[in-house]
Amino acid sequence: MSPGTGGALSSGDREHAVVEAVPTELFVNGQWRPSGGGKTFDVEDPSTGKVLRAVADATVEDGMAALDAAVAAQAGWARYPPRERGEILRRAYEVMMARQEDLALLMTLEMGKPVAESRGEIAYAAEFLRWFAEEAVRIDGGFAVAPGGSGRVLVMRQPVGPSLLITPWNFPTAMGTRKIGPAVAAGCTMVLKPASLTPLSMLAVADILAECGLPPGVLNVVPSSSAGRLMEPLIRDGRARKLSFTGSTEVGRLLLEQCAEQIMRTSMELGGNAPFLVFADADLDAAVGGAMVAKMRNIGEACTAANRFYVHAEVVEEFSRRLAEQMGSLRIGRGSDEGVDVGPLIEARAREKVRQLVDDAVARGAQVLVGGEPVDGPGYFYRPTVLVDVPPDAELTSTEIFGPVAPIIAFTDEQQVLAAANDSPFGLVSYVYTSDLNRALRVCERLEAGMVGLNQGLVSNPAAPFGGIKHSGLGREGGAVGIEEFLETKYVAVAT
Ligand code: NAP
Repeated sequence: MSPGTGGALSSGDREHAVVEAVPTELFVNGQWRPSGGGKTFDVEDPSTGKVLRAVADATVEDGMAALDAAVAAQAGWARYPPRERGEILRRAYEVMMARQEDLALLMTLEMGKPVAESRGEIAYAAEFLRWFAEEAVRIDGGFAVAPGGSGRVLVMRQPVGPSLLITPWNFPTAMGTRKIGPAVAAGCTMVLKPASLTPLSMLAVADILAECGLPPGVLNVVPSSSAGRLMEPLIRDGRARKLSFTGSTEVGRLLLEQCAEQIMRTSMELGGNAPFLVFADADLDAAVGGAMVAKMRNIGEACTAANRFYVHAEVVEEFSRRLAEQMGSLRIGRGSDEGVDVGPLIEARAREKVRQLVDDAVARGAQVLVGGEPVDGPGYFYRPTVLVDVPPDAELTSTEIFGPVAPIIAFTDEQQVLAAANDSPFGLVSYVYTSDLNRALRVCERLEAGMVGLNQGLVSNPAAPFGGIKHSGLGREGGAVGIEEFLETKYVAVAT
């Protein structure tokens, strides 16, 4: 994808050129090809509801062809020099950054987020390729003298094998590179199924990786309008040795059941319900700023989005007033228009869910400080919303909102707020604002979450281990451990 659209075109022409430049066929064994069934499905712009492009709709036979290609390429790819695997990733990082503007616009058009955020996601996504380019040459093993003196313990690290990757629509590029980066670095081949709402971004990345020298069959991309029908036979086939999934807990649970049959390795990045705790001793400017990031990044459509704000009774009024002021001043509009802060939600169903959750909270006694309703007109917009006096039984305290809504609940006691924060089957991320070091460490230790933002509203970082506990998932992506998910350990008992 290199439309070379520069600044000379009108914004409409530039959007058209960027969308038209993406390959929309299946990417199998290094070739772009139509669906075997000849079918396509439409990808829409959620800010207008208009169709952007039709994308090839993979059949089960297409999926099997992709798996055949991945299996055939596996042995050769595992022997490929690690430095060369790393250099392919490094080149792809450079190309993604050189094309950041076009890739960002493409993502905004299919997903809706403001283009400034899309630029950020492209940089974040590309960074996974750079990070794992550096990790590819650091895969090591071990050698030890057995404790008894005779015999040696040799430990090798080897690629898991052909891997199935399934990604969601909310971070269409980064959720893909967070899996592709370590799989390439470890020497695994892949079949990737992107979300049907946003396949274009991943097709653009596949195109870049091919351009940067990734051998045929190593990465195969099969968009589909019927995910379950396509993926279940690939999982049950038995030749794939790993499934890495990012998406809802509901689908993750189903996939774990399917993987159990083949005792397949799994990584699961699932849903969240992040609590955001503000103690009375917190720096309120920082807490409100952090709340804006933790709530409004990606229009609230993030697994890491703050879902429940617990604010100490001494500061709750001030915090709520300031948050409502900032939320109310955000500019709503098409994400591709510069200066827009809040784009549309992904689809009509998603907006309807947000509307119902807010209406339920209000019916149970919550007060609307700002927002509280959808925006009329085309596209699936919902106003940034702050709710106070939210009762604990309101449905949005236990459901992932996935929209621009901040429910605030007052508390007075540390034990009480920790119990409330942990009273959830999810455990992805929590946020804590306090200036008391002892309290900070105590609370971080006791929060049941895979990640904690301490006095900061953003935890995502390619150099750090991302992931959750409880129903939020299994395994970690990124950081030094990210590559482990794609490696097996082999022990060789050496006679001496
Ligand atoms: P989703 O409905 O679970 O879909 C995720 C992916 O799974 C999509 O590619 C989807 O395909 C596919 N899929 C759906 N049903 C399937 C099935 N039966 N078999 C195989 N694949 C299937 O989730 P989503 O709505 O796209 O994403 C939002 C969820 O992802 C939220 O819960 C969010 O918290 C979570 N998430 C977690 C993380 C994390 O790192 N923990 C990061 C981002 C998002 P289709 O698109 O065709 O339905």
